[in-house]
Amino acid sequence: MSGVEEDLRRTADQLRRATGVFVLTGAGISAESGVPTFRGAGGLWRRFRAEDLASPEGFARDPALVWEWYNERRRAMREARPNAAHRTLARWDERFSDFLIATQNIDGLHQRGGARRVVELHGSIWRARCTKTGKLFRIDEEVDVESTLPPPSPAGGGAILRPDIVWFGETLPPQAVAQVERFFDEERFQIAFVIGTSAAIGYIQVWIYTLARAGVFVVEVNPDPCLGGAASATLAGPAGELLPRLDSLAWPCAE
Ligand code: NAD
Repeated sequence: MSGVEEDLRRTADQLRRATGVFVLTGAGISAESGVPTFRGAGGLWRRFRAEDLASPEGFARDPALVWEWYNERRRAMREARPNAAHRTLARWDERFSDFLIATQNIDGLHQRGGARRVVELHGSIWRARCTKTGKLFRIDEEVDVESTLPPPSPAGGGAILRPDIVWFGETLPPQAVAQVERFFDEERFQIAFVIGTSAAIGYIQVWIYTLARAGVFVVEVNPDPCLGGAASATLAGPAGELLPRLDSLAWPCAE
C-alpha cells in the first residue's frame, strides 16, 4: 500500500471514531474551483506587488487601484463554484456535533458549498467596510463598489469604503481568533485537517503545533505538503480528489 493509501485508511479510521473535527483551510482548497493560490505557480503575488495592493499604505496611496484589483478578483470568484472538497466539508459540518472550519480564504466558497460553521480569518471579498465608522456592508446587496472608485461610504462626510479584508501588516479580527481559540479550549475534537495552505503565517503555525502537541490527529491535505513531523497523516494530493475518497472510506454505505 502506498503512503497516501495507508494514510487515507488511517485517517478514515480516526474520522469514523471522532466526535468533533477542526479544519483549517487556505487558498489551495479553492484551486480546483479555478481561484488562483497566492504563493504557488501562477500565484497572485508572483504577478503583483503585495505591498501595492493589499496593505493599508497601498490603499492610502491609491484606493481606486486597490478597488479595481479586488473588483476584478471578485468577478473571477463569482464564476467559481464550490468543488468536491468544499462539499465534503459541508457534509461533515452536518455529520459532527462539534465542528469548525477556520479559513484564510476570502472567497466565501465554504459557505456557498453548504458549510455553516465557518470562521473567516482574513475577511471576505463580499464585504466592504466604512473607513470612518467600521460599519460592514454586503457588496452588491447593500453597496455598489464598481461604478465610483473609490466607493463612497453611505456614512457620508467624504468617508470611503475599503474591502473588508485583512491586509499585510494588519491584525486578525479578534472575534474570529477568539472563536477558534474557544473551540480549542472546549477540547471536543480529536482530529484536525490542514488543507491547501503553505502555513507560512506565524499564528497558523502556532495553532498547528499546539494541536499536534496536545495529541490531536493532524492531517495535512496538500499536493506539496509542508508540515513535516507535525502531521500525523499526510494526504499528498488535490483536496477535491482526496477528501471525497476519505469520506467514502470512512462511511462506505453513506450516500
Ligand atoms: P498559499 O498560496 O500560500 O498556499 C496554497 C497551498 O495550497 C500550497 O501549499 C499548495 O501546494 C496547496 N495546493 C495547491 N493546490 C491544491 C489542491 N488542489 N488541494 C490542496 N492543496 C493545494 O495560500 P495560503 O496558505 O492560503 O496563504 C495565502 C493567503 O492568500 C491567505 O491568507 C488568503 O487570504 C489569501 N488568498 C485567498 C484566496 C481565496 O480566497 N481563494 C486565494 C488566494 C489567496
